[in-house]
Amino acid sequence: MTDPVFKTVLAAWSFIFGAVVASFVNVVAWRVPRGESVVLPASHCPKCGAFLKWYHNIPVFSWLFLRGRCAFCKKKVSARYFLVELLGGFLFLALFLKYSVAAPVLWAWVSLLMIGSLIDFDHCLLPDFVTVGGAVWGLAVSAAVFCASIFWPSVAEAMPFVPSPAMSFLGLAAGAGILWTVGFVGAKIAKREAMGAGDVLLLGAVGAVSGPVAALFTLVVSALAGSVAGLAWLAFSKAARVRWRMIPYGPYISLGAVLWLFIGEESVAAYLRFMGLEG
Ligand SMILES: [Zn+2]
Repeated sequence: MTDPVFKTVLAAWSFIFGAVVASFVNVVAWRVPRGESVVLPASHCPKCGAFLKWYHNIPVFSWLFLRGRCAFCKKKVSARYFLVELLGGFLFLALFLKYSVAAPVLWAWVSLLMIGSLIDFDHCLLPDFVTVGGAVWGLAVSAAVFCASIFWPSVAEAMPFVPSPAMSFLGLAAGAGILWTVGFVGAKIAKREAMGAGDVLLLGAVGAVSGPVAALFTLVVSALAGSVAGLAWLAFSKAARVRWRMIPYGPYISLGAVLWLFIGEESVAAYLRFMGLEG
């Protein structure tokens, strides 16, 4: 893909598509834990129940031109809708710029991670369709790329970020196994559940999608980011002291999994150089 005009059009389309998908991510994250259908009823204001017109429902822009308020009852609409849509746009664009036409495989993955993070943040639970779904997605993509590359070797060359089926399985076992062990040991020490099954499965999914090294990278990043955020929360919020065992871990695993897609290989190489283990 060398034509700069064509590439610019695809890049712009990636951003728009990412914002549209993220808008749906918001709907899924709100409705699924409440047992509501993700299709019906159409988008409506949760406060006054009024149905949105199509021009109230344009990702990123509608929130801006309505100045963060419902068009009917004028009550505030959370900035989260806008921020998640913006994040989705930038993530899809950044993945396109890094992975070119292979990016859609990872668009699906980061969309699952966004849904999981929002639901975990709100309800402290990670639904199976995110965790088991992510693991199945990783195994399926790796099997599909493996089979396709028997006939067309260029498929595997275009997607070097997809692990082989063996590595995908190993990643699943390593990711879930490590976090399960951490939780098991933690539970023995703290005499209570230390790690949710959803977190264990989510790190397994990271391994299935990106391989065992990615699962390890994600564990380190999520532990660091989670500790910093958890300590900050404990320091500044009294409510957190009561609720501290309910700190969701899924968003930090997701953060690590997304960082892996952009700086994972470089970080591991830099770490190995630092340790004098340059390969
Ligand atoms: Zn309203």
